[in-house]
Amino acid sequence: MARYTGPVCRLCRRDGTKLFLKGAKCFTDKCPVEKRNFPPGQHGQSKKIKKVVGYGLQLREKQKAKRIYFTLETQFRAYYEKAASRTGVTGELLLQQLETRLDNVCYRMGFAMSRRQSRQVVRHGHVQVNGRKVNIPSFQCKVGDVIEIREASKKLVMLETAKDFVSGQNRVQWIEVAADNLSGKVIAMPKREDVNLPVNEQLIVELYSK
Ligand code: SF4
Repeated sequence: MARYTGPVCRLCRRDGTKLFLKGAKCFTDKCPVEKRNFPPGQHGQSKKIKKVVGYGLQLREKQKAKRIYFTLETQFRAYYEKAASRTGVTGELLLQQLETRLDNVCYRMGFAMSRRQSRQVVRHGHVQVNGRKVNIPSFQCKVGDVIEIREASKKLVMLETAKDFVSGQNRVQWIEVAADNLSGKVIAMPKREDVNLPVNEQLIVELYSK
C-alpha cells in the first residue's frame, strides 16, 4: 500500500505545529518546528502567512490527524464512517478508534519512541495480543486486551532504548503498563481528555459530513 516515506519533519512544518512523528528529536531544541517555523520548500520563508478558514481549516485538521496516526485517506474515512454510524459523539469515537489501534497502544505503552517506529515493531511480528501474535498495526484493541512484546523479541536493543526514553511521557490513564515486563493491559476506552494531541476533531467531522 502506498505510504508516505519522505522526511516527516516537513509535515510538521507544513502544519506549523509539532506532530511528534520522530521520537527523541521532537523533545529537543533540534526540532525543525522550533528552529524554522515556516512552511517547507524554496519559497516557504517568503510566503505570506494567510489566515486559513472554513474548508482549508477543516482539511488541515484532517491532514494532521492522518499524519499523527500514519493512516491513509481510505482507512481514515472508514474510521469516520464507523464513528458516524455509532451512538455518541462522532469526533470522540473517531479519536477513540485511532487511539486504540495496536501501533498506537504499543507507542503509549513505551515499546517505541514514535508511532512510526511502533508500527514497525508490530509489522515485524514482535507483539502479541492475549497470547497470540498480531502483526496488523490497525488491529483494534479492546478493554481487557493484554498486549506484550513476544519473549524472543524482548532483548531487542530498540525496545530497551525506547523503554529508557519514554519512561512515562506517553503514558495514559486507560492503559496499565508493566514496563519491566514489556507488557500492558487496556483497562478502559480512551476519552477525549486522554488524547493530548493538537487536533480539533469537530472540524474533521464537519469536513466529512458535507
Ligand atoms: Fe520533526 Fe518531531 Fe519536530 Fe515534528 S515534532 S518537526 S517530527 S522533530
